[in-house]
Amino acid sequence: MGLEMNINELPLPHIRQAAENIEVTAAMARFYAELEQRLAVHQPQCHNRGLCCKFGTYGHRLYVTALELAYFIAHHRTELSQADGSGGTVNLLEMYTSPESRNCPFQQGGLCTTRAGRSMGCRVFFCSAEGESWPAEISEWGLQQLRTLHHRFAVPYVYVEWLTALAALRKDSGFTAGELDKN
Ligand code: SF4
Repeated sequence: MGLEMNINELPLPHIRQAAENIEVTAAMARFYAELEQRLAVHQPQCHNRGLCCKFGTYGHRLYVTALELAYFIAHHRTELSQADGSGGTVNLLEMYTSPESRNCPFQQGGLCTTRAGRSMGCRVFFCSAEGESWPAEISEWGLQQLRTLHHRFAVPYVYVEWLTALAALRKDSGFTAGELDKN
């Protein structure tokens, strides 16, 4: 699958089903836990407080797979309920920005407001690791793990740009604000 996939090719029904499957979310949680362990070995530091989440000005893009999107969907309700700092529910649709803005809408005040559901790319990128080889090595390991999980759960493997994926989720009729607000 090419990187610049048509968003109409995004397997949204598979992604929504996977988000409801506790075996999928448990397997993804184990994957992220091992990923975090591998990262912790290198004791990476974050210095730029979210500047890398402003893709346009930072000059890079974030890509995610279908199961990472499913895990994000499975987690964002709780994350968003805390995102405004008051414990109230935040409407995800209001948080979306247009792809043209090139900023991740979940970066607020230098902090990620969906940390538990964030993708591998968000977890592996550290400005302190610039020029080091381990981020690429861990990403390669992670993508292999993710391919295996997609095969195991019969979810089509796609690798899509994050803001493009968010735009597709926004347009998807099965992913409405009312559904998002359920807790
Ligand atoms: S999900 Fe969080 S870490 Fe990832 S780009 Fe958005 S704000 Fe940054």
